[in-house]
Amino acid sequence: MVIFGAPGSGKGTQSDKLIEKYGFYHISTGDVLRDQIARKTEAGILADRYISEGHLVPDEHIIKILGDVLDENREKMANGIVFDGFPRTVNQAVALEQMLKERGSEVNAVIGLEVDEDELIARLVNRGKTSGRKDDNPETIRERLVVYHDSTCPLKEFYTKNNKYRGIDGTGSVDEIFERICKEIER
Ligand code: ADP
Repeated sequence: MVIFGAPGSGKGTQSDKLIEKYGFYHISTGDVLRDQIARKTEAGILADRYISEGHLVPDEHIIKILGDVLDENREKMANGIVFDGFPRTVNQAVALEQMLKERGSEVNAVIGLEVDEDELIARLVNRGKTSGRKDDNPETIRERLVVYHDSTCPLKEFYTKNNKYRGIDGTGSVDEIFERICKEIER
């Protein structure tokens, strides 16, 4: 499944709960990239500039990284995968379909966490006080939200067309939101 939503919509928080309950394997492309940056790998050095500016890492690059993650952790994925932060463009969604098909699988559901923009900004600014993430500052947050609207939002239509998108209210307590997600999954 894909957990979908704007920066600050709670994808990471809800992914942790999904892993605990369903035993899914968690792939957060943001975490993968930050790990590569910390280890100063070639992929990390390339990604760092884009992330700091609030821009997306080029499709070609992130698709290659994701393919490697899928191949390297295959035996841990028997219960399914939760993709968090991927896909973020229509190109990435098409590539994901292909990559999963090659591995005898497919996206079963896309759960969208819907949160209005004022709340997103408030959450991200607040997270920036403790996250240590250099992209959690007001200027970069604004840019990330623009990128979300321009490049990522069109995916909603992509997954609505093939009847996989389920939007849920992403506000309320963490447990309330999780319950809404579980209902959609069970359905
Ligand atoms: P958030 O959802 O709060 O923006 P993430 O950790 O998912 O946080 O992503 C942080 C940054 O990593 C993004 O702003 C982007 O630069 C980069 N990134 C993560 N996933 C992708 C992706 N699928 N494609 C391109 N860039 C990505």
